[in-house]
Amino acid sequence: MLKLTFLGTSSGVPTIRRNVTALALHTTMNRDWWLVDCGEATQHQLLRIPHTVHELVGICITHVHGDHSYGLPGLLASASMNGRKKPLILVAPAPVKAWLDATMLHTELFLTFEIIHIDVASQQLVHRQDGLAIERFPLSHRAPSFGFKFSFEKTTWKIDSDALRARGVPPGPAWGLLQHGKDVQLEDGSTLLAAEFRSEHVERAVAVIGGDNDTPSLLAGACRDADILVHEATYTEAVLQKVGPGPQHSSVQRTASFAATAEVPNLVLTHFSARYDSAEGMAEVEAEARLHYQGTLLLARDFDTYELNAGVLARLAPAPRVK
Ligand SMILES: [Zn+2]
Repeated sequence: MLKLTFLGTSSGVPTIRRNVTALALHTTMNRDWWLVDCGEATQHQLLRIPHTVHELVGICITHVHGDHSYGLPGLLASASMNGRKKPLILVAPAPVKAWLDATMLHTELFLTFEIIHIDVASQQLVHRQDGLAIERFPLSHRAPSFGFKFSFEKTTWKIDSDALRARGVPPGPAWGLLQHGKDVQLEDGSTLLAAEFRSEHVERAVAVIGGDNDTPSLLAGACRDADILVHEATYTEAVLQKVGPGPQHSSVQRTASFAATAEVPNLVLTHFSARYDSAEGMAEVEAEARLHYQGTLLLARDFDTYELNAGVLARLAPAPRVK
C-alpha cells in the first residue's frame, strides 16, 4: 500500500553513490506523492524514478540545513518550466520560506503555480486530506528540526457474496449498486439494503520519517502505532563518541536501540556519513544495527523503493533509471 523511494541517503555532502537527503512517499492508491526534504540535485535524482513534479502534492522540509533544502529552488523552477499549474504545499520552517522568497526575488524566478506554505512550527497536524494525515514532531538538532508522521488510510467496501447468493441474487449489476451503498429493489418487490450486504474495510499504513536528530526517543509518541521508522544513523557509536555531541546527530546504535524499545516492526536507516560509503562501511553499520534491533532492518540506498504490504516492508527491484 505504502511505498518509499529514496532519492538521497548521504549526510552533509553527496558521494558518487549517494546524494544528499530526499525521500519520496507514495501509495498504490493513486499517482500522488510527497517529498520529504529536498537536498541539492533532488530534481536530477527525480529524473530516474517514475514520479514527476506534476504529481507531487507537497514537500515537507525537516530543517533549514542545506543538505535538506538546497534543491528546492531548482526543483520548483523546473516544475514551472514544465508548466505546472497545480498549487504545491510546502511544509517547512519559516526561514526556508523566507530564503526561497529571497532567491525567487533576486533570481527573477516567477512560478507558474502557487506555493501554499505551512509553517512547520505552527501546529502538530500540518496536513489532512484524502485519507492522508501528516503530523510533525519536534526533534533535537543544531537547528530546529522535525520528524513527520504520515498516516495513510484506505477505505474499501466489500459485499457479502455468500449472503447474496443465499438470497438468490447472482453476480450482476445489483452487486455493484450494493457495493456503492445503494439499496436495490428486486423484481419480487423486496428490497436489499446496502447496509446489510456490505462492510467497511480500512487499511492503514503509518510511516515516521525523522529529520536530523540526536535523540530518537523524541519520536516515541509518533512511533506508537508506526509500521515504519526512517531515521538518520549518521555515525556508528564509536565514531560519534570521537566526533562528540556538537553536530547533534544520532548513531546507528542509538537509533536501532530506540526502534527496538519502541517496538517499531520496520526500521530504515539513512543519512550516512560519507565515511561509510563502501561495502565495508555499510557492513559495519549493519552489524551495529543488528546488535540492537531484531525487526526488519533496511539500510537505505539511493533509488531503492520499499513497499509495505500487510505490515511487511520489502525492497523492490530498483526503479528504471531512464524514463
Ligand atoms: Zn543532514
